[in-house]
Amino acid sequence: MPPRIEGQLSDALIDGLLDPCLGIDRSGVLRIFNREAGRLFDRRPAEALGRPLWDVLPSGDFTRAFSAQIKASEPVPVEQVIVFPGDRVFAVQMAPVRTERGRNLGAIAVLRDMAGVRQIERGLDHFLVDVTRRVSVPLTAIKGFVETLLEGPYQDPEITRRFLQIINEETNRLVRVVMTLEESARVGEVPVLSKQRSRLEPLVEASANMFRDVAAQKGVDVEVDLAPDLPWIQIDPDRIRRVLVNLVDNAVKFTGVRGRGRVAIRATSRGGVVHVAVSDTGVGIPESERELIFERFHRVNEGPAAGLGGTGLGLSVAREIVDAHGGSLEVESEPGEGSTFTFHLPT
Ligand code: ADP
Repeated sequence: MPPRIEGQLSDALIDGLLDPCLGIDRSGVLRIFNREAGRLFDRRPAEALGRPLWDVLPSGDFTRAFSAQIKASEPVPVEQVIVFPGDRVFAVQMAPVRTERGRNLGAIAVLRDMAGVRQIERGLDHFLVDVTRRVSVPLTAIKGFVETLLEGPYQDPEITRRFLQIINEETNRLVRVVMTLEESARVGEVPVLSKQRSRLEPLVEASANMFRDVAAQKGVDVEVDLAPDLPWIQIDPDRIRRVLVNLVDNAVKFTGVRGRGRVAIRATSRGGVVHVAVSDTGVGIPESERELIFERFHRVNEGPAAGLGGTGLGLSVAREIVDAHGGSLEVESEPGEGSTFTFHLPT
């Protein structure tokens, strides 16, 4: 390829990059200054190119560190986090450029915006606060009831039974928190499935039973409706149970907030596909949120259930698991009427 074309292609490539890129020659004159660099430093590339770095850019950590690269004795790339005006944080990679014979050609820098990383960090902070709260509430309750029992009422079988029921419910809550933690450790990974020939019925029943007491306290009935012709199916039963637990947990939570209602789990089989629908008569999900709720850490923060959400991980994990089975998970909802989450699994 003629060198001129190569040069034009690499110019176009650098200019089109989504990260700011800069290059200076050994006297500090800007030779590369792409569009994103122009945006960051508020200078048009045409104005910046051909002028010394220190004339074009404000003096600061970046300008100092970059110009020092020209004089670096060793041509070793360095990476440094630099805060720019407006609290914008960039990971900056800089490297001196030398010819094979060691002649100094100048230096290059590529900057990566850390805004996305900071957003994840904020999500994690929130996540930790939430997990701590969700562990300490049931733990305090369990401790309180056990201590009270030890102090004497265990001689009354009625009270003992009632207390043990509460301890059982709170322990179930803790189990769910731990399941969420396990999930979050695996978030973003394609789940490794351990598939076996299974039946859906016991998984659905177990998930419904796990929530019946909690739901009843909130005035919510949990119904199960299983078609008589459900086939054996090749799935990872633990993972599919997780999907069910996540969906039923949400359905109960976002219905219970209305004081009463119904959650129904239905499973049918048609044309080589099993369909499992978890529907509720809860608060519903606004149209604009229906795809976002499958993203990690996303929770609906408006309407009647604002602030009710947990970690915002359940649905993203549920979708990953169903996808890994070659299936799909989707939602239909009418705000104020309820929601139906349905997953489809090939048999
Ligand atoms: P979490 O429940 O821990 O917040 P999820 O990923 O399971 O995380 O759900 C994300 C968000 O989707 C919830 O916070 C809630 O705003 C919304 N959502 C999920 N299921 C329902 C439902 N059945 N009814 C109403 N809103 C729901």
